[in-house]
Amino acid sequence: MSGKDISIYVHIPFCVRKCLYCDFNSQVPASEDTVFYYTSALEREIGAAGDIFEDRKLASVYIGGGTPSSIPSSCIGRIMDAISSVISIEDDTEITIEANPGTLTDLKIKDYVSFSINRVSLGVQSAIEEELKTLGRIHTFDDVKKSFDRLYWGGIDNISADIMTSIPYQTPESLIETLDAVIKLKPRHISAYSLIIEQNTPFYDKYRYGLLPLPGEDESYMIYKLAQEYLEQKGYKRYEISNYAKETGEEGRDYRCLHNLRYWDRKDYIGFGASAASLIGDHRFTNVFDVTDYVSDPGGKKAEDYRLRPEDAMAEFMFLGLRKTEGIRCADFEEAFGTDIQKIYGRIMRYQIDRKLAASTGEKEEKRFFLTDKGLDVSNMVMSEYLLT
Ligand code: SF4
Repeated sequence: MSGKDISIYVHIPFCVRKCLYCDFNSQVPASEDTVFYYTSALEREIGAAGDIFEDRKLASVYIGGGTPSSIPSSCIGRIMDAISSVISIEDDTEITIEANPGTLTDLKIKDYVSFSINRVSLGVQSAIEEELKTLGRIHTFDDVKKSFDRLYWGGIDNISADIMTSIPYQTPESLIETLDAVIKLKPRHISAYSLIIEQNTPFYDKYRYGLLPLPGEDESYMIYKLAQEYLEQKGYKRYEISNYAKETGEEGRDYRCLHNLRYWDRKDYIGFGASAASLIGDHRFTNVFDVTDYVSDPGGKKAEDYRLRPEDAMAEFMFLGLRKTEGIRCADFEEAFGTDIQKIYGRIMRYQIDRKLAASTGEKEEKRFFLTDKGLDVSNMVMSEYLLT
C-alpha cells in the first residue's frame, strides 16, 4: 500500500446521443434494463473492493462518463450508497458528477445534493448555437443557463464549465463570445480543451474528405492562447495546461479540481465500471471496455493489468506533475522513488532551463521545478524528454 488517501472514479458509459467528435466509451441509447444491470454490477464491484479501502481515507469521488446525469438519479444514489458502505464519506470530500445541460432537472439536482454530491462538471462546449449543432450536442446555450440557475438554486455552487476550442467554424470573436457568456454564469472552474479529431468518429470521416472547416494550425494556436489570456484576465488562474480556477474563491475555498490534481500527482485512485482505470502504488489496471463483458463479471477480467517499472513511474511523475503550472516538488520525487531527482533527470532539467522551457524556484525541501509558458505551449515535446528507455 502506498498511501493513506484514495480517490474513486466511477464510469457511467451511457449518453442520450453520440456527439459527432466523441470516441469515449459510451453507449447510446441505453435501455432501462441495461442501466439497471450496470448499476447492480457497479454495486458488486465496489462491494468486492472493500479490502483496498482498509485504513484509507477517501480523498475524492468523480462520477464521469459518458453522461452520468442521463441515468436515473436513483442509480447514482445506489452507487453512492455502495461507496459509503466500504469507506466513510466526510462532509468536505469533493464529490463531482459530470452533467450534460440537456439532462439536468431540479429533481435530479435535489437528489444529488442528498447523496452529498457537491461539485458538477457541466459540458458546455460553446455558447454559439451553430457550433453546438456542428458538434452534435443535444443542448442549446439556453439549457446551459437554465442548468446553472437550477444548480445554484438547488445548492450546488461549485460548478465547472467545460468549453472547447478549435471547433469547426470557430473564430477568435466567437470564442470571446463564448467565454463572456460562460463567465457571466460565474462558474468556479473552467476547462478549455482543444477539439481532437479521433478515428472512428463522424468528424474523422468528414475531416478525411476535407469537409470539416477546422481552424488552421496557426489559428488554433492563436485561439488556444486567446482563451488562456482572456480567462486569466477575468480572474481564472491557470493551474494546469487546460484548467482554470477562481483563485481562492470568495470564501477562501480552493476551486481547483482536487480529484484531477490527484491524477497529476500520481496519488492512488481506483476506478469502477467499464473501462475505468486504477493506480495503486505502481499497480496500474483497467477494466474491460465492453458493457456486457463488464456486467457479466464486474471488475473480474481486466483490459490491462501490470506493475510499472520504476523508470516508467518516474517518467509519469514528471510528465503528469509538469502539467500543473506549479510543477513538481523535487522532494516529492525523492520521497516517492528514494533517489535524488538530479541524479535521474538533472541533465534534462538543466537543458530545459537553458532553453527557457522550464524554471525552478525555492530552496531545499521546498524546491519546485515547473514549465514556463513557453514550455507548456510545447508540452508534448518537453514531456517526451523524460521517457527513459
Ligand atoms: S456527451 Fe460527452 S461522452 Fe457523451 S457522446 Fe457527447 S462528448 Fe461523448
